[in-house]
Order: sequence, then C-alpha cells, then structure tokens
Amino acid sequence: MATRNELERWDRDHLWHPFTPAGAAAPLVIARGDGVYLYDLDGNAYIDATASMWCNVHGHRVPELDDAIRDQLDRVAHSTLLGLSNVPAIELARRLVEVTPVELTRVFYSDDGATAVEIALKMAFQYWSYSRPTKTKFLALHGAYHGDTLGDVSVGDIGRFHSLFAPLLFETYRAPSPYCYRCPLGLERRSCATDCVGELERLVATHADGLAAVVIEPAVQGAAGMITQPPGYLRRVREVTQKHDVLLILDEVAVGFGRTGAMFACEHEHVSPDFLCLAKGLTGGYLPLAATLTTEAVFAAFVGKTFFHGHTYTGNPLGCAVSLASLDLLQRRVMPELPAKIARLNVHLDRLAELGNVGEVRRMGLLAGVELVRDRAIKEPFPAEWVVGRRVCDEARRRGVLLRPLRDTIVVMPPLAIDAASLDRIGEVLFDSIAAVMKELGA
Ligand code: PMP
Repeated sequence: MATRNELERWDRDHLWHPFTPAGAAAPLVIARGDGVYLYDLDGNAYIDATASMWCNVHGHRVPELDDAIRDQLDRVAHSTLLGLSNVPAIELARRLVEVTPVELTRVFYSDDGATAVEIALKMAFQYWSYSRPTKTKFLALHGAYHGDTLGDVSVGDIGRFHSLFAPLLFETYRAPSPYCYRCPLGLERRSCATDCVGELERLVATHADGLAAVVIEPAVQGAAGMITQPPGYLRRVREVTQKHDVLLILDEVAVGFGRTGAMFACEHEHVSPDFLCLAKGLTGGYLPLAATLTTEAVFAAFVGKTFFHGHTYTGNPLGCAVSLASLDLLQRRVMPELPAKIARLNVHLDRLAELGNVGEVRRMGLLAGVELVRDRAIKEPFPAEWVVGRRVCDEARRRGVLLRPLRDTIVVMPPLAIDAASLDRIGEVLFDSIAAVMKELGA
C-alpha cells in the first residue's frame, strides 16, 4: 500500500470529491471498518454515525454479508440483464415484492438512489403517454432532494445544490414542505395534515390534467434538514393523488429498510404508492444497487412496449446477493431489536433540550436532525458564514464520532445494528460537541 503521505498527496492532486469545494483540504482517509467503527490510516477509530451517507444498516465487515458476496463471486460477479437474467436478481425481485406493499409487483433495477427516482419519473411519463399524453408534469415539495441526475434535480428544490442548473431543467409544480418548525404557511399549530396538504391538493386539483405524478420523500425530507412529516400527512397525499388520477412516487432511498422504525416509511400510514424507489440500505450499505418498484397496472400499460432505459450494471449479481443476505439479517435480527434502540436514542435526544441553542430535535426511528439556532425564543438562525453545523461535526470527529451537518442541522443516522454502548457514545459526544462549540462562540 502507498504511504500515508502519498495517499494524502494523491487524494489532493487527483481525487475530486462530491459535494466538496474543489481544492479543499484532504479529508480523513479511511483504511478499514469493523462493526460501527471506521479506522483512519493511523488506526484511530470513529463511530460511523451517519451510516456512510445514510446507507449502512448492519455495520462494516459483517460476516453474513461478506460471505454472501464471496459465495456469489465463486459463481459470477456480473452478467447483464439486457436479454439475460441472473439468479440473485430474480430471487431479490421476488423478495422485494414480498416485503413491500402488496400492490407493488414489478421490480426495475439500477445503481443508485438518483437512478431509482429518475426511472420512476420516466416510467410515469411513458405510462401516461399511451392513454393521456397531456400528463407530462410533476409536483414535488419545497426542499425536496431526489438525487443529482437532471430529472431528479428538476423535481428537487435545494437552492444551493440545484439553482445553477435551472436552464437545464424541466418545470415542476411545487407544494409547501411540512416544515412545521418554520411553517411556510405561517400556521400556528401542527395542522399540516389538513392545511398544508390542502395547498398540495389545490395544486393537484388545478393541474391534474397535466400532472403525471407527485413525487415525495415519505415521512422525512432528508437533505432539507430531516423535516419530519406529521401523522396523517402521507395518507392525505395518497388520497389526493388517487382522487385526481395522479401517480404517486415515493422516494424511500433514505428512509427505506428500517430507518424510520418500520421496514418502509409508507407502512406507518398504510400507504401503497404507484412507484417505490429504493437504494442505499438495499444492500445493507455494501454495494451500489437500486430498485424502482411499481404496480401491475403500470406494468400492464407497457406490455409489448419497451422502456428504453437501462444501465450496464443493472441487477448486478453481487449487489443482489448481498441484498438478500441483508434482508435476512434485517428481518431476523435488526428489526426486532430496533424499538429498544430507538428508545435509547430518544433519551439522548431529549437531553439536548438542556442546551439553549438547540432549536428543534426532529426524529423518527433511528434518525434525527438537531437544528441549532442563535436565539431559541425567536428561532433565529446562526449566520451561514459561522458554519456552526460544520464546527460541531469537526468537534465530534475529534471525539471519535463521524457526523455530517445539513447547514446547522446535525444529522444522526447510525447503522441500525448499532450496540447500546456506541449509541450512548454518540449521544454524549453530540451533547458535548454542541456545548463546546456554543461556548467557543459565546452563544
Ligand atoms: N433520494 C433521497 C431521499 C436521498 O436522500 C438521496 C441521497 N441522499 C437520493 C435520492 C440519491 O441517492 P444516491 O446518492 O444513491 O444517488
């Protein structure tokens, strides 16, 4: 292996990192992982408290998952799904149909969350082209994030990520985000399931003739700042789309596979969408694999026709094999143990209220967003140039916990299989890091 100095120099000279200012200082280099820990080149251990960008489910180097990949490697690493099929891709499709809402019967594979959503958008568009070709547009929420391909950016709405690309994008209708802490409609109480969805319904009703689908992140809008939706919200969205003959695309890329406490977030509201987009946790966080599930009704419209979309590694056998093993572990081990872990995380999150600059703690399942504010009484944000969220995460890293901020909201999203002691450590480090940075700022 190259030396530490070489690796850092080559990283700086050649590696272009995503969502990172070009030319920024070389980041921490990870050499290996074990359980919920990642280790740098010097052997320092860090708890992977963002689950390696929200995807890791069981921790790192999990024997059952490693073995599933090795077994598949002894058969074949990759063969195409264009004109051929492969054993794990078939078995996983069957398994996904079993574990997702009963109406979803068809599975289309791709590689990432972005492609899973892009495919749903294109399928919805093509579906209507056969019966009602005026239905070409999409409706999404303010603050939406669905990935970085141009279709996803068109339905996305995070200004600092997306606005530059506006000339390349298609027009999307935009409904308010149920960000109750800073209600965009100025509502006093948590009445989103009626008033906030009311605005979405008005838009859907007005534009139904031209609307192909509503696309949303169910339960939690992740990149917007872990914005949790109030009970009843998703159910109403489903009712509205059904009433006005508009398809519903649920992007469960971040929240699927147990993250919110149920296997899929839509289960909390007994909602079955027309499209369900899955990625990240699908392989337990091991390999890039994604799936777009849809209904028999959508599939029926395509019979005898071709959906001209596919990727070289679609249905990759290694990814499908590890997904099957991950689903086994999730159902057998992780889901039964999850309620106790959620309760334990909540104890730590409750304690954050003691810190005067914690504005709101949004949470669902084993996921939380801690929004920091300069003045809690008036919810005044910190000046962006103070990079408060970044500083808290740097402080946490010095204490051995890897966290990432969304502006001044600190995201906590550990692997679901995390042990109690590591969860406690995250809670303590989060508290201490916020306290330390606030003291430094004199806030
Ligand atoms: N949808 C949601 C809700 C996401 O959170 C993300 C990624 N954070 C994506 C889509 C895109 O997934 P990927 O990064 O795998 O393309």
